Amino acid sequence: MTKKGILAVVSGFSGAGKGTLMKELLQAHKDQYALSVSATTRQPRAGEEHGREYFFVTKEEFEQMIREDALIEYACYVGNYYGTPKSYVLEQMEAGRDVILEIEIQGALKVKERFPDTLLLFVTPPSAAELENRLKGRGTESSQVIRSRLKRAVEESEFMEKYDYILINDDLHACVREMHELIQVQHLRAGSNKEWIEKIKEELRSL
Ligand code: ADP
Ligand code: 5GP
Repeated sequence: MTKKGILAVVSGFSGAGKGTLMKELLQAHKDQYALSVSATTRQPRAGEEHGREYFFVTKEEFEQMIREDALIEYACYVGNYYGTPKSYVLEQMEAGRDVILEIEIQGALKVKERFPDTLLLFVTPPSAAELENRLKGRGTESSQVIRSRLKRAVEESEFMEKYDYILINDDLHACVREMHELIQVQHLRAGSNKEWIEKIKEELRSL
């Protein structure tokens, strides 16, 4: 079966727990996954490091990356640019690692257009009230930014049906397990095994 990595997109409302889930998933299966590090023009939060959570760049640097076609996709989210550098994703997939893009909806749909075999996962908390609690509890944004992110969540909820699976992040570990299983099962899809199918067809013809 396929040795090439799967491309999976994880989206979800800000505060749904995507970052927390990614950390757990990568800790549990470090050799299997590669998490793409995006470029962004937003300011780093306390504790975030350049090259680990994001490549923090200026608007001019970001626009330069767009011009050089160095991004698989990019989008503007609540006033800042965010984008996925292309080279790392393609290298890791070739090396057999499953690559996860933790990106918002406009970007997710662009990736799906460009790579139709991409698995689209949408993470949501069990309720809207819990979303608000998590955003406030994280304590990383002003109340004004929290309001804009909650408003954005209303818009984003309109696109949930475009995703392949909805993951409810209630029990963190159960959600990590579900995410891992969903990604791993993609390795068995016919679409992920085109080369293998060609090989067995060839073998059968030459019997
Ligand atoms: P996102 O990356 O989607 O914006 P985070 O991973 O930063 O979200 O999580 C937002 C907040 O919710 C954090 O304070 C995190 O500790 C908390 N959180 C994440 N998952 C859960 C969960 N399953 N149950 C309770 N709290 C959670
Ligand atoms: P945050 O500022 O909370 O880190 O991220 C804000 C939003 O941007 C989240 O929904 C996150 O998934 C999304 N995001 C992060 N990186 C990218 C990217 O490279 N492309 C796109 N389209 N969205 C991204």
